[in-house]
Amino acid sequence: MEKHIVKVISANYVTHNVKHFVVEKPAGYNYIPGQATDVAINKPDWINELRPFTFTSLPDAGHLEFIIKIYTGHNGVTEQLAAVQPGDELIIHEVFGAIAYKGPGVFIAGGAGITPFIAIFRYLNSLGELQGNTLLFANHTTADIILKDELKSLLGTHFINIIKNAQSGTAKKIIDKELLAAYIGNNTTHYYICGPDQFTLDMADFLRELGIKNEQIVIEQ
Ligand SMILES: Cc1cc2nc3c(=O)[nH]c(=O)nc-3n(C[C@H](O)[C@H](O)[C@H](O)COP(=O)(O)OP(=O)(O)OC[C@H]3O[C@@H](n4cnc5c(N)ncnc54)[C@H](O)[C@@H]3O)c2cc1C
Repeated sequence: MEKHIVKVISANYVTHNVKHFVVEKPAGYNYIPGQATDVAINKPDWINELRPFTFTSLPDAGHLEFIIKIYTGHNGVTEQLAAVQPGDELIIHEVFGAIAYKGPGVFIAGGAGITPFIAIFRYLNSLGELQGNTLLFANHTTADIILKDELKSLLGTHFINIIKNAQSGTAKKIIDKELLAAYIGNNTTHYYICGPDQFTLDMADFLRELGIKNEQIVIEQ
């Protein structure tokens, strides 16, 4: 199994429960935007606890970045990552992942499911090819929106927030079939989905019911 020990360069919270890690990049380590790797913490008791996380850095950057939601209250890897600081070490493994950009379309993200899309949007922006893409981003509260300012600056009016516990207004609070219907384009449009398992299943079902073909839907397999 491919294994690389990498030092953490920086680790900072970007929301109340999401942490941004910058880590060393091993020589010759390559990925395409949207892909992930299994990560472990290089501390006794934790080196065999592998969890998948998505690269959010540009592929040609000299470092790797991850954006990781921390789950406290149970003794998992992300709870341990809350305490990881610059100078600590992670272990990264093979690159994998089925989410990749196939052409302009609608990106449908739930919570930390935004991470592969951050990688793709940053990459497309670096190429000047971001135009024609729309993001529907579902979160429980506005405080949960990851990289809100960056996404707004990248996508402008094509960045649509759907907030379940929004305090006021008549805007939609969840992504449902009716909301998706407003974003259905012609047959060449792609639909990218990433979020909790049930969210992904529901979104894919809604899209199929709206006549979208399986080959237009991009999800992690
Ligand atoms: C391909 C891929 C890429 C991913 N990329 C990212 C990414 O870039 N960023 C990111 O933040 N996440 C990402 N994830 C999700 C991430 O892998 C998980 O959040 C992580 O594995 C959780 O690890 P953990 O050990 O902290 O939690 P686990 O113990 O593995 O628990 C996982 C889930 O179960 C719940 N759970 C488990 N036990 C309890 C309990 N006792 N009480 C309450 N809830 C419980 C947790 O809330 C959490 O939702 C990705 C997942 C996949 C499959």
